[in-house]
Amino acid sequence: MTAPGASSEPSRDASAARSDEAQRLAILLPLPLGGAYDYLAPPGMSLAAGDFVSVPLGRREVIGVVWGPATGEVEAAKLKSVIERLDAPSMPEPVRRLVDWVASYTVSPPGAVLRMAMSVPAALVPLPPRLAYASAGGTPDMIADQCAIRMTPARRRVLELLSDGPPRGASEIAHEAGVGAGVVSALIAAGAVVPVALPARAPFAGPDWQRPSPALSVAQQTAADSLRARLADAFSVTLLDGVTGAGKTEVYFEAIAEALRRGRQALVLLPEIALSAQWLERFEQRFGARPAEWHSDLTGAARRKTWRAIAEGRARVVVGARSALFLPLAELGLIVIDEEHDGGFKQEDGVVYHARDMAIVRAQLTGIPAVLVSATPSLESVVNVQAGRYARLELPDRHGDAELPEIEVVDMKRQPPERGRWLSPLLHGALSQALTAGEQALLFLNRRGYAPLTLCRACGHRMQCPHCTAWLVEHRLAGRLQCHHCGYAMPVPRHCPSCAAPDSMAPCGPGIERVAEEVLGAFPDARFLVLASDTIAGPRQAAEIMRSIREREVDVIIGTQVVAKGHHFPMLTLVGVVDADLGLAGGDLRAAERTYQLLHQVAGRAGRAAHPGRVLLQTFMPEHPVIGALTSGNRDRFLAEEAEARRERGMPPFGRLVAIIVSGHDVEAVEAAARGLGRTAPRSDEVEVLGPAPAPFAVLRGQHRRRLLLKAPRRVNVQALVRAWIGANKTPASVRIQVDVDPYSFL
Ligand code: ADP
Ligand code: ZN
Repeated sequence: MTAPGASSEPSRDASAARSDEAQRLAILLPLPLGGAYDYLAPPGMSLAAGDFVSVPLGRREVIGVVWGPATGEVEAAKLKSVIERLDAPSMPEPVRRLVDWVASYTVSPPGAVLRMAMSVPAALVPLPPRLAYASAGGTPDMIADQCAIRMTPARRRVLELLSDGPPRGASEIAHEAGVGAGVVSALIAAGAVVPVALPARAPFAGPDWQRPSPALSVAQQTAADSLRARLADAFSVTLLDGVTGAGKTEVYFEAIAEALRRGRQALVLLPEIALSAQWLERFEQRFGARPAEWHSDLTGAARRKTWRAIAEGRARVVVGARSALFLPLAELGLIVIDEEHDGGFKQEDGVVYHARDMAIVRAQLTGIPAVLVSATPSLESVVNVQAGRYARLELPDRHGDAELPEIEVVDMKRQPPERGRWLSPLLHGALSQALTAGEQALLFLNRRGYAPLTLCRACGHRMQCPHCTAWLVEHRLAGRLQCHHCGYAMPVPRHCPSCAAPDSMAPCGPGIERVAEEVLGAFPDARFLVLASDTIAGPRQAAEIMRSIREREVDVIIGTQVVAKGHHFPMLTLVGVVDADLGLAGGDLRAAERTYQLLHQVAGRAGRAAHPGRVLLQTFMPEHPVIGALTSGNRDRFLAEEAEARRERGMPPFGRLVAIIVSGHDVEAVEAAARGLGRTAPRSDEVEVLGPAPAPFAVLRGQHRRRLLLKAPRRVNVQALVRAWIGANKTPASVRIQVDVDPYSFL
């Protein structure tokens, strides 16, 4: 009990009092409850903030994190004790502060945010030792004798394999010897093959910053030097603003090398990690090893291994989707957010947060630099540069001799396609030219499937999802009508479900499959590829697809926004935007900005190498400012005008918005709750609350939805207002209230 070597024993009372105080701790559990709960540490267990512990909760045992000193709200006698401290590196302090920060900013329970920071509970227990097997010793025939087994050719192969090789896992043995798993397990059971323990932790091959970097251009070198200089330990945000193909990736790789040289870890956030095979290859070329990857396609075992390697500091560079933000990198020295303008960084379910913004918070809490990278920066970031909060580094030219592509407008009112077709004669001609020249073309349409709407020619009935306020989309290859919101699917009906007219259902408007059909009809010899989120099964297939494009096994790519981002296809010279107006409809705050970014990125796929690129935008609104900005290339004027319009209306980033979404199965309960919130809304001279109104998706997955929108100047603490407002409204358990601070979706 007493520490050995203690020179004098303190009085019992004093030590008891002291340890009693030290034993009371607040522990946060990864559950959407309130805040942390107090527990007692049993005698002899020394715990510090950040430690992972298991504690009793009701009849369950839950893993939580020691959050700090006890709140003292419950008297000591009523407190339960911690069961054990888990054998895992403790949660770094900046991550704990980030959890609290995100919870407070997004008006979410801290436990709900903690859950994202400990998404792999299995990684909190050390990996079991890996079992490997070796031969029992001696020649195969001697072993067979000793263990009294009959020798078979398969058994001989296994014993021979092991007689001159290192120990390995059972499945590896079966694979290498070319035998079934049963052969190996029978040999194990007979004692002819014996287990040996290997160390559990295979080292994570680390990226090597000492490998030579490519020769950088003067502009690239200048930018890289400035970034490197920012790696001294202090918070800063830098916008790396460079045209598509400028070599921004090469430049921030130099900052990563510098972080590694300083013995720090680096985190790179990408909007769509499943499609970043090319990025991973380039990283490996530069650093000689792959980074640790973090995204939703990882298997459970890979998640566990990766999380543990990150927590133990064995993984030095992590690349991931938005959820990587909460990983326990204890020696983090740099955060890069590539394609920072991308909407994919906004998480819309559960805790609603923007990973770019919260990554900057993490950098600030850690005291390290953050780098935002984009060819089309968000208005938020540009305004922050203008206000002097962020620094900007510019790369105005493409790398090497590549030129930015020429962007031309096709006025669809004056040069319409033939009836029932979607490609204008101009685009058709350009496509034909590119194919004759042996070059590649990309046709971009941000719509999956064959047709966005199916209607009855006799009565006008439209096929709608039974669970959502949405039309069903025909997917002809799959032979179905599908809801893109809830996954509902049905065959295309022969008869109209409303008027029973036979063979009257007709597709309306194009999706990518329909454009592909037109291409196939016009160019039967062209090899084409239809690319959308639902035609790519996973990262491996994505990598294979990208390879086949680079190696020119494909002539025409017809795709949605998945093809817009980051890819580098040297032989791609023509980009045709089938419907440039698609994103401009509707009253979304960011419709213009988002359309500009998307189309600019798509256009940026053309002419990235020696062959000059050409971009054709099909539009019915050639005079629209977004189309004008794209063709003139005057991005900064467009952003300035967009900023002015938002400033006048007090809209973000000059004002604050908070959306409240009320939803539930019972339409009356939802309606009543929404009206209650409307009545008690914190309206004032400064604060405006719109709604409640039915959401554009008034029903989604069977849930009825109502929206309210709070608008206030930046100086108002909207979180405090919203917390008090919602806290004062008692809503039935069947009604869900979701708070979306800084909303990006208005659906
Ligand atoms: P961005 O991210 O700005 O769109 P990338 O970093 O993808 O541009 O670069 C475009 C292409 O040019 C890539 O194939 C890249 O490898 C190549 N590149 C850029 N800079 C260099 C350089 N200094 N040396 C060799 N290749 C480069
Ligand atoms: Zn649906």
